[in-house]
Amino acid sequence: AKDAGRDQVCFFDPAMQTEVVARAMLLRDLRQALENHEFCLFYQPVVDGQQRILGVEALIRWQHPQRGMVSPATFIPLAEDSGLILPIGQWVLETACRQLVSWAQDPERAHWHIAVNVSARQLNQVEFVDQVTAVIDATGAPAARLRMELTESMLQDNLPRTIGKMRTLRQMGIRFSLDDFGTGYSSLSYLKRLPLDQLKIDKSFIDHILTDANDAAIAGTIVALGRTLGLGVVAEGVETVEQMRFLVDSGCEVFQGYLFGRPVEAAALGRSRESLATS
Ligand code: C2E
Ligand code: CA
Ligand code: CA
Ligand code: CA
Repeated sequence: AKDAGRDQVCFFDPAMQTEVVARAMLLRDLRQALENHEFCLFYQPVVDGQQRILGVEALIRWQHPQRGMVSPATFIPLAEDSGLILPIGQWVLETACRQLVSWAQDPERAHWHIAVNVSARQLNQVEFVDQVTAVIDATGAPAARLRMELTESMLQDNLPRTIGKMRTLRQMGIRFSLDDFGTGYSSLSYLKRLPLDQLKIDKSFIDHILTDANDAAIAGTIVALGRTLGLGVVAEGVETVEQMRFLVDSGCEVFQGYLFGRPVEAAALGRSRESLATS
């Protein structure tokens, strides 16, 4: 019956309507995805200049029963619009915390951090700090190993309240990174007010760092800015040795990208050195 409904819709077609219907169907499936255990977390290594793993970024994956892997770039905006990002974000946090607990037993991984992406809807919840505290307490995760990635745009409204939440979480040991840095607008004075630990240079600047003088200058400026403000800087989306060398020469000390490892299941982390040669 489901397929018949689908055919009918296609019959009336106009492309626009198809698009709207496709979104509605994806949203219907997204509502079921949590209870059907269709999500998992992949982890991408974050490395130092010697390519030693410092930690990982947790990136959600949705294994749809019919469509296969659906990209977070497709379903996260849908989850944000619908409010589903709240239970999904909670699941991400719990899963990452449980992973930290299991790594705490492993001398090779006990020092790794996990960075989770936090959406505006989550951060803006009045209960956000309480919920994070509850997850840390319930799992017994080492809070000092947990990072949160925020973006500039989500820090626009009610800045004092957001800063208050960040301060409370930082007192617990949680660290904050400003993701996709350089793509939004931030004044220097505004950056100084935020209790941040790290800036992440957006991949879009790294992509053309060797050929576009503007992008190279922006990346270099962000590294210098981080130094001035006492913040760490990580370059994301590093794919080639040449990009890495350029970034090292610019003073960047932390890196993330396919060159060092793609996002993989936890069990596959650190076992993929050969991908350096093949990718
Ligand atoms: P992001 O936070 O900017 O994450 C980095 C994205 O760049 C990831 O895409 C990662 O797989 C990709 N990437 C990393 N290194 C390279 C590289 O060297 N080359 C290329 N081509 N790509 C690279 P992904 O996993 O598809 O995630 C897309 C976006 O979805 C993320 O962008 C983030 O905004 C969002 N997202 C992912 N997981 C979560 C989550 O758990 N919660 C929330 N709220 N958003 C999430
Ligand atoms: Ca991120
Ligand atoms: Ca990013
Ligand atoms: Ca990005």
